[in-house]
Amino acid sequence: MAKDFKTVWNNCLETIRKSISPQSFKTWFEPIVPIRLDSSSLTIQVPNKFFYEWLEEHYVAVLRMSIKKELGMAAKLQYQYPSAQGNAVPKKDEVRLTNKKQESTSFKGNTATDISEIKNPFVIPGLKRMKVESQVHPSYSFQNFIEGDCNRLARSAGMAVSKNPGGTAFNPLVVYGGVGLGKTHLCHAIGNETLRAFPEKNVLYVSCENFTSQMITAILNGTVNDFVNFYQMIDVLILDDIQFLAKKTKTQEIFFHIFNQLHQNGKQLVLSSDRAPKDLEGIEDRLISRFKWGLTSDLTAPDFETKMAIIASKAIKSGIEIPIGVQEQIAFSIDTNIRDLEGLIVSLAGVSKLTGRTIDQALAQELIARSVNAGVKSLDIDYIAESVCEVMQIEMELLKSKSRKREVVLSRQACMYLSKELTEMSLKEIGHYFGGKDHSTVIYSINTLKDLMDVDPSVKIKIEEIAKKVKATAV
Ligand code: ADP
Ligand code: MG
Repeated sequence: MAKDFKTVWNNCLETIRKSISPQSFKTWFEPIVPIRLDSSSLTIQVPNKFFYEWLEEHYVAVLRMSIKKELGMAAKLQYQYPSAQGNAVPKKDEVRLTNKKQESTSFKGNTATDISEIKNPFVIPGLKRMKVESQVHPSYSFQNFIEGDCNRLARSAGMAVSKNPGGTAFNPLVVYGGVGLGKTHLCHAIGNETLRAFPEKNVLYVSCENFTSQMITAILNGTVNDFVNFYQMIDVLILDDIQFLAKKTKTQEIFFHIFNQLHQNGKQLVLSSDRAPKDLEGIEDRLISRFKWGLTSDLTAPDFETKMAIIASKAIKSGIEIPIGVQEQIAFSIDTNIRDLEGLIVSLAGVSKLTGRTIDQALAQELIARSVNAGVKSLDIDYIAESVCEVMQIEMELLKSKSRKREVVLSRQACMYLSKELTEMSLKEIGHYFGGKDHSTVIYSINTLKDLMDVDPSVKIKIEEIAKKVKATAV
């Protein structure tokens, strides 16, 4: 008996549900309505064109797998959505489930027209004067951003930008550096200082994660134009952690448009990133080249003297007195980042206030040991490799060797795939870990594994088992 379209789609949903997060499932799959089934071609209705593009870009593999499972290798999926003009005639887009390349080409073709349809907001009367909530955190200021060799250039460029937003050569100002080195603090300090000097300006701080999720909401509600219009009213746009734009092509496309409009109109852009623009992967070249238009400055780990100054300032903030010998002991011991340094002072203050213990070298030593040796594994490639070896029952040397035995190759691919998914490592760094493989070899391995997971459920189960293990023990 021929299958009913609703049953087919419900079965697909069950498969999809197991492969993605509950949140993504709710956002992207619950709103879909199955429409009909003609032999092996299933038609589904999605709320709008962006939604279709998003699905095609992010979930095509899981859609492909689920529908082929239901309808066989010849399965096809047709999308239907109301046209942008709001008339009821449905549009159709077909995903060719057999060929990945064609799908992504068709996606790129569509987006160019969308962008050209976005209207200039400044023609809307009254909108320009609207004041935007800055989202700037008042406690992160230049006054409490201690200066040292590690941040001197970025700090003074930030000050210059605040005094003359859009009017210096530092546009965009890009600050980059590892975790806990002060990127977010500096971003807010620039926002605060600009608002102090120019209270009427529209300053907006936004993390890239928020920017992306606002964009997803706009896509879901069909309000992408409003989203873009809103951003074009900003005088100083501060976007934190731009590395999160990686691989989000739709968000990058919209941001590219916003960037160009703001820059052309003499507005200021401040961006932060966890690595230098040239090392950002998964971000379009045209965006990276724009990131380099202004000034790029790095934040590095603080030297001893800067650490001492930071400790002294954080001690005052926490209302404790730390003897100079203990300050030195802390400065020597913590060489990761400023966040850890700050964390230690906060614990020191907490313990001494709660227990009444004097702040001395013994107490500091206890807390340093606890913070350095917190007993949690960091989520890095070494740990992923260990987990892979454990689940796949192979030796580490073999994993890193050139062996072509099937289970070794599979384990290596799994390690590359999970490192890409779960860490911030670049393809280059992953390749380096495996004895200097180039980034295209790494991509090839990752894609091969993804394809394997699509066709071989036992591989998928193994990979999921490893991922679960890694996530459960690591932070
Ligand atoms: P990042 O965004 O680079 O991960 P943050 O800006 O969140 O780092 O900084 C981590 C913590 O360290 C914050 O509490 C911040 O206030 C503090 N911090 C960073 N740099 C400095 C500095 N130069 N002076 C004082 N505090 C700093
Ligand atoms: Mg940050």
